Amino acid sequence: MAVTPLNSAVIAIRKSKSLPKQSYDVVIIGAGHNGLTCAAYLGMAGLKVKVVERRPVVGGASVTEEFYPGFRNSVAAYTVSLLNPKVIRDLRLYEHGLTIVERRAQNFLPTLKGEYLLAAEGQTERNVAKFSGADAERYAAFDAELDACAAVLRDLVLQAPPNLTKGVSLKTFGEFLNAAAFGRRLRRLPTERLRQVYDLFTKSAADYLEGWFEGELLKALFGFDAIVGNYASPYTPGTAYVLLHHAFGEVNGKKRIWGHAIGGMGAITQAMAKAAASHGVEIETGVPVREVQLERGRVSGVVLADGRSIRSSVVAANVNPKLLYTSMLPSEALDTDFLHRMKRWRCGSGTFRMNLALSRLPSFSALPGSDAADHHTAGIIMAPSLGYMDRAYSDARQHGWSREPIIEMLIPSTLDDTLAPHGAHVASLFCQHVAPELPDGSSWDQHRDTVADLMIDTVDRYAPGFRTSVLGRQVLSPLDLEQIFGLTGGDIFHGALSLDQLFWARPMLGYADYRGPLKGLYLCGSGAHPGGGVTGAPGHNAARAILADRRWGFRSAI
Ligand SMILES: Cc1cc2nc3c(=O)[nH]c(=O)nc-3n(C[C@H](O)[C@H](O)[C@H](O)COP(=O)(O)OP(=O)(O)OC[C@H]3O[C@@H](n4cnc5c(N)ncnc54)[C@H](O)[C@@H]3O)c2cc1C
Repeated sequence: MAVTPLNSAVIAIRKSKSLPKQSYDVVIIGAGHNGLTCAAYLGMAGLKVKVVERRPVVGGASVTEEFYPGFRNSVAAYTVSLLNPKVIRDLRLYEHGLTIVERRAQNFLPTLKGEYLLAAEGQTERNVAKFSGADAERYAAFDAELDACAAVLRDLVLQAPPNLTKGVSLKTFGEFLNAAAFGRRLRRLPTERLRQVYDLFTKSAADYLEGWFEGELLKALFGFDAIVGNYASPYTPGTAYVLLHHAFGEVNGKKRIWGHAIGGMGAITQAMAKAAASHGVEIETGVPVREVQLERGRVSGVVLADGRSIRSSVVAANVNPKLLYTSMLPSEALDTDFLHRMKRWRCGSGTFRMNLALSRLPSFSALPGSDAADHHTAGIIMAPSLGYMDRAYSDARQHGWSREPIIEMLIPSTLDDTLAPHGAHVASLFCQHVAPELPDGSSWDQHRDTVADLMIDTVDRYAPGFRTSVLGRQVLSPLDLEQIFGLTGGDIFHGALSLDQLFWARPMLGYADYRGPLKGLYLCGSGAHPGGGVTGAPGHNAARAILADRRWGFRSAI
């Protein structure tokens, strides 16, 4: 009998032998990394699990594809840090072929004036001092505060948040214990630490960073993390949280750094799919789910777009909760207030994503040279100040896209020779801000190429000659992210990471424990706590909730 590592106290459930064909213990809608993680844990516990994926490949937003002959890249998500070490361990992802390497420098911020800031292990403070002695002196204290606050969040990502419950029941009692444990955790923290965490949950990134530093480039370095995937100005209250969200990760045990999965982000989900398959999980691709089936008010399976039905008493949805509740279920099955709130679930990152095939590495005016150097392995941020980011947001709101956009460029082929032919390179461009829906009502189909040209021209201003090095490109507007990956509004997190949609309010007060309002229906994707990013955490936590419910409603002890 297999024992799930979710909780060694959880007694594994044997596979049901008497079930008819096309009948499973659990059906998972979507083979994104969270769907695969959830499936793998449930398979490990002995459940009969089927994953049905709409696209021809598994991985959701964490995939590698050939986008130009001979050039492969991570198509959407492009860099790894948040992937939880417990998930890596439990799913034995390294044994299933995953290798994650560190960048040689974390970030490089060139300016058009010929200056640059390089953030790299053991060098950042020295480089900050080139701009401000005061900032260099404060840097270690800032770093320590962010480390400590990130550790608080890290401690919570594999826990279901305390969930609002009413009445007297076993469930209420369980939630009471959960809330008490959460309270005890917080009480153990020094008061000043709690204040810092509170600041990071509520303040704007600009407010938080301006409390520490004066240097524009240094503030831009951290400000970028606050607006990435977040359609907001760094002056918007709550954006400091998104900065913190990007700080709870680690690479090979080193906290808060970002790295590269050899073979691209698809290597993560390929390893997850292998892990799931090794525990008997069936994965079928190219089969969109049309609807979740209900019988007598509870889930009884799914119907695929081709009309096939798959029966199961548990369905876990890896899709955006708005997509699930507004298009896969009959509206009369849901409470009116619930449905009304779900329709207003805020989705829409201001992101535009490109993959480029390059004949050579860029040479930046601020640090010339096309031979591979440490800064070429970094996240190259072209956005020199918080004010610039603020203007980019306002421009996108009024015009549809920033005419001076914020771009992070990553050139993973500097760390990985499996992606491009020898001597050539691939670049990921992650560009903000663009309006998820254009203000004049036109379609992104009309503007995709104009905006793609603008992005390349913008990089060319920092690295003259860049434009002529582009051999081929793949362009993904918010509309493309929605149509290709099923990301509602192009939202990379399955719903904005704002205080009203976080923690016990993700996706809604009363449903933060991965269970939906319909019996047997669970949410295992990024629309659940702790939200977006390639973490595996919602998939892990949802699997735990499903397993706990099979133990007569008793919550898992972890
Ligand atoms: C452009 C971009 C850049 C990003 N960069 C990073 C990054 O560098 N690092 C990072 O950590 N995170 C990044 N993210 C965020 C991260 O990729 C996502 O938050 C995360 O991958 C979401 O994972 P998920 O498993 O919850 O959902 P998804 O990956 O969205 O998977 C959901 C799956 O459900 C499937 N599906 C949808 N509808 C149906 C249906 N009807 N039937 C069956 N299946 C269906 C989809 O096809 C998809 O495979 C980025 C995201 C994007 C889009």
